[in-house]
Amino acid sequence: MEMEPVIGLEIHAQLKTKTKLFCDCPTEPGAEPNTNICEICTGQPGALPRMNARALELAAKAGLALGSTVNHRSLFSRKNYFYPDLPNGFQTSQLDPPICSGGELTLGEGEAAKTIRLNRIHLEDDAGKCVHDEKRGRSLVDLNRAGVPLIEIVTEPDLSSSLEAIEFLKKLHALLIRLEVTEGRLEEGEFRCDVNISLKPKGSSQLGVRGEIKNLNSFRFVGQAIEYEIKRQSSLYASGQSVRQETLHFDPAHHETRTLRTKEEAHDYRYFPQPDLPPVIVTEKTINSLKASLPAPIEQTLARLISLGLKEDQAKLLTDRREAVEYFDAAVEAGGEPKRVATLMNELFLPLCLKTDTKPSTACLTPKSLASLAALLESGQLGRRAAYEMFEELFKSGTDPQVLASKKGVLQISDSDSLLKLAQEVVEAHQDEVSKFLGGQEKLMSFLVGQVMRRSRGAADPKGAAKALALVISEGKKQ
Ligand code: ADP
Ligand code: MG
Ligand code: ZN
Repeated sequence: MEMEPVIGLEIHAQLKTKTKLFCDCPTEPGAEPNTNICEICTGQPGALPRMNARALELAAKAGLALGSTVNHRSLFSRKNYFYPDLPNGFQTSQLDPPICSGGELTLGEGEAAKTIRLNRIHLEDDAGKCVHDEKRGRSLVDLNRAGVPLIEIVTEPDLSSSLEAIEFLKKLHALLIRLEVTEGRLEEGEFRCDVNISLKPKGSSQLGVRGEIKNLNSFRFVGQAIEYEIKRQSSLYASGQSVRQETLHFDPAHHETRTLRTKEEAHDYRYFPQPDLPPVIVTEKTINSLKASLPAPIEQTLARLISLGLKEDQAKLLTDRREAVEYFDAAVEAGGEPKRVATLMNELFLPLCLKTDTKPSTACLTPKSLASLAALLESGQLGRRAAYEMFEELFKSGTDPQVLASKKGVLQISDSDSLLKLAQEVVEAHQDEVSKFLGGQEKLMSFLVGQVMRRSRGAADPKGAAKALALVISEGKKQ
């Protein structure tokens, strides 16, 4: 019997807040273990949680961008576990109702478009981390992450291949970063997911028993884990065995999944309302102002950039990167020619931002300076090569491009009076070549341009020189 995969994802994204979900401890990674902690996030008896309003807004914002319904009133529940890195003995999460219900994200375009439905988005806090010190045979607990705010986005089981799952995750990741809901640093575990996967007879509407692979924080691992799990379940069915519902761990070193525990049901967690927190209220007014703060959908931004003359690839490179569109808009606003600004950004500026871990908005090279550089190129005062050679210095120093170029002596002669004067001199000195050129030896134009370059000691703009020569020669012909 032919079987097909059914996949549902549970994505955890760390919200971009300065402080934790229920206390004032910082969320920034990298601190010494157990320094970003307090009585609340370490679960001391009697400590009372206080809701972080920013986290709530970010969760609602994600929901609005994903077409979810933001519930005016939602509740926190205690989800009970026993883990060494969970000092409360429960995770504070939302069962029913969550902050957002429903929603969707569409993959592909046109005929190939497929909409993946979301079940819910809820708020919850993260656990701490166990660090295993194998040398000394001991395990240590770091609670810096305990209480960090997360949203969990749960999809319906609408995905049907590893490629689709990866496309979904990449699109969601980019969207949440663009919304500034999360920093999305995969290596810090700020965006990670659980993959639920089952097989069913092709065309059947009845779902099979699923395996749930926990905590994947790389798109590649998601793909590998799904492929492995499809094979594992297929061979169980093929040999007449059944698949049991279980929780699995993916081992990237061996590209395989292993059983963590056989599956628990929601009632195993003994969810109950968290009595220490009041209901979460989101007013219509908040929802409206969040809606107004949403950036334009990516498709709309792409269309706008293309209407400014950018090629689709060029536009996509900009919309793919955080803050790049704002920087681009500011440079165009400052007078930069859009296509030239986009080229400079994609070829030089954004790669340097990435390399030096700089945000466009805080780069020394301002949009205005980038626009001046574009204008120097546009007018022929600066050659492409010289511009590219001095770009890194511009990027690092933020010096005005005109100032730096003239300091380096690379500004070209591009004003038409000077070029015409030079062209005139060259034409007079090389009458022979000019008549041969007029007789059809078109190659001689580059010789003549070369002579202009020589007379200007390399400072003339070659394109402008060719134009000036053509003008002088055609005027001469008329006389
Ligand atoms: P939990 O894992 O917490 O018990 P749910 O039962 O709500 O939660 O399901 C979680 C995820 O598993 C959802 O993304 C859902 O789409 C997916 N899922 C549920 N049943 C199946 C199935 N039979 N095959 C694949 N995915 C499934
Ligand atoms: Mg689950
Ligand atoms: Zn704390």
